[in-house]
Amino acid sequence: MKQITCITCPFTCRITIDVENGDHVSSGNMCNKGAQFIDAELSAPDHSITTMVKTIFPDIPFLSVRTNGEIPKNKIKKIIRDLSKVIITERKGIGEIVIRNISGTKCNVIATSDMLYTANFEQAAKKAELIKQGKNQNVVTTKNPA
Ligand code: SF4
Repeated sequence: MKQITCITCPFTCRITIDVENGDHVSSGNMCNKGAQFIDAELSAPDHSITTMVKTIFPDIPFLSVRTNGEIPKNKIKKIIRDLSKVIITERKGIGEIVIRNISGTKCNVIATSDMLYTANFEQAAKKAELIKQGKNQNVVTTKNPA
């Protein structure tokens, strides 16, 4: 008997797998997707990894990331441990590579949220504040021709 948690949906059913006459029989799944999940787990137990990494930026202290491919199950724990030690020092846009070829898997870790948008937003807010105070030297004002 073996137990696996189905992670296909938020119900996270705990599925029990028994071997009967050489076949796998699953129980505890609330729907057929659970059985499909078990088949995939038993035949090719690879997963993409989704997690957060630390950054040096106080406005975005954590960046959400994922691998852009499937990671062999025996490397998942090590990669998650390694990612917990990573600190991002450069702002990344969504989809940008954060780490190449993580642990020799040929998969990259990519950003799934956008740090650039926040940076641009902050710059725009600062510029708007300077304009409001009449301190922005780069502002070009056009006169009404009338
Ligand atoms: S078995 Fe069905 S209901 Fe249960 S977690 Fe998997 S997909 Fe969701």
